[in-house]
Amino acid sequence: MEINNNTSNFIKNIVKEDIDSGKHKEIVTRFPPEPNGYLHIGHAKSIVLNFELADEFKGKTNLRFDDTNPIKEDTEYVESIKDDVKWLGFKWDELYFASDYFEEMYDKAKLLIKKGKAYVCDLTPEEMKEYRGTLTEPGKESPYRNRSVEENLNLFEKMKDGDFKDGEKVLRAKIDMDSPNMNMRDPIIYRISHTNHHNTLNKWCIYPMYDFAHPLEDAIEGITHSICTLEFEDHRPLYDWVVKECEMKSVPRQIEFARLNITNTVMSKRKLKLLVDEKIVDGWDDPRMPTIAGLRRKGYTPESIRNFCRAIGVAKASSLVDSQMLDHFIREDLMPKVPRTMAVLKPLKLIITNYPKDQVEMLDIENNGDNPEAGIRKVPFSSEIYIDQDDFMENPPKKYHRLYLGNEVRLKGAYFVKCNDVIKDEEGNVTEIHCTYDVETKSGSGFTGRKVKGTIHWVDAKMAKKAEFRLYEPLILDDEEGAEGKHFLEQINPNSMEILDGFVEPFMEDAKAQDKFQLVRHGYFNVDEKSNEDKLVLNRIVSLKSSFKL
Ligand code: ATP
Ligand code: MG
Repeated sequence: MEINNNTSNFIKNIVKEDIDSGKHKEIVTRFPPEPNGYLHIGHAKSIVLNFELADEFKGKTNLRFDDTNPIKEDTEYVESIKDDVKWLGFKWDELYFASDYFEEMYDKAKLLIKKGKAYVCDLTPEEMKEYRGTLTEPGKESPYRNRSVEENLNLFEKMKDGDFKDGEKVLRAKIDMDSPNMNMRDPIIYRISHTNHHNTLNKWCIYPMYDFAHPLEDAIEGITHSICTLEFEDHRPLYDWVVKECEMKSVPRQIEFARLNITNTVMSKRKLKLLVDEKIVDGWDDPRMPTIAGLRRKGYTPESIRNFCRAIGVAKASSLVDSQMLDHFIREDLMPKVPRTMAVLKPLKLIITNYPKDQVEMLDIENNGDNPEAGIRKVPFSSEIYIDQDDFMENPPKKYHRLYLGNEVRLKGAYFVKCNDVIKDEEGNVTEIHCTYDVETKSGSGFTGRKVKGTIHWVDAKMAKKAEFRLYEPLILDDEEGAEGKHFLEQINPNSMEILDGFVEPFMEDAKAQDKFQLVRHGYFNVDEKSNEDKLVLNRIVSLKSSFKL
């Protein structure tokens, strides 16, 4: 598939029209996360869209923390979000906090009251629900709807001064209780919450609701195109109402697009937080998490995530993307870049009985069989090596071309070896296999005497470095409801991680966190942050092959 950074989408067309018609000289977009968790791959879609749109039209993009709900927000999340946006490769023009606009929002609420467009309401949440009506029945007006401007101003100030308890009163916009759009039936725009805020501390005990705050934030910053996900489509009339009635000078336009959903993946900070809190995963950056931090730790690159986000496109219709598509982009990115090396994940000792016992040869092995420019490396070889358990079978099926008693294979980059003997423990498990090698068959010697059907990888038993390999499977098992169904905690895959102790080639001794390798026949791996000098820890990013076609 051709990945074209400039592929068109309906949002781009809108922006282009607005520039061509002279409506805007410069566009301004924003990425507005709520700091109530770590960013996930769904946010990456929004980040790529907003930043690249502005880039293409030489506009600006703000990073704005939509921190109007003090209960769930935390500075840890603020820091992680900044790190993740930067790591993805984007630079914001301005960094803002919605909470910095609380004063202005409060003034705008008073303006609405003065215009007779907002009132303080004492209905309980249950009563309010009842008064709201349903999709088929109109709502009923609150008995507090016709309070005088003066009384409303007075009560609103008392709300601000902390004279009431949480939930005792709210400020509501006075719009239309008969509206077919439920969002327009006198929505709440301010609530009381005696909660410390991560930024404004205890300055406020009233907080604006999202539907009131968000359009004001956009207008204050001069956002021209406010891009959000589809569930806000029904809120757009309210968004426009707030901008108009609050007499904002700058008029942003809300545009909705479909959110990203991926198979076998939950995509909501709330659910991801539950996985962390319930200790189902090892923190927000667990490599099984679809968070940017998790993907980074597993070994995904910013390029692969950006390319994925471009390829899935931007549309109005919701769709479910196959998680293998992301794997396609990481393979494509890593294939030409990373060194190839041999590793044994499930070791089985192989002794070459006719190889001089104390001899060690340094073999020249190509770093990349497909690219001679990648050069060669020296790999030690001696009479004791490890091979992978899967490369030996006592009772092989037909067409098994790897090692079994009496069969000969090529050790990659070394010699042909033939299996003559199998050593077992008391329980009958194979613990060692004994082979002989043929010195004539050395790789690169031009030997043509006979052919073997199998080539297997190996590491030298004395020189190899210990490594722990972590292999991952999806954390969530989809069912008919999909991963976003109700019971996602019951859909946890009990086998989402397998840990194996094995060996890698000695040169990997110096590998550092975030170094990436292709381990021949096993896939692409990333050095985990928890690696140390005693033990290398390698996360499998993705296996080598996929059945997935773009
Ligand atoms: P979550 O439910 O995961 O917390 P959210 O939409 O509440 O998601 P915000 O922090 O409010 O998260 O989102 C910041 C921006 O990212 C918003 O503009 C939102 O529309 C966008 N976004 C969030 N999830 C997705 C997704 N799955 N696909 C595309 N965009 C998303
Ligand atoms: Mg949210």
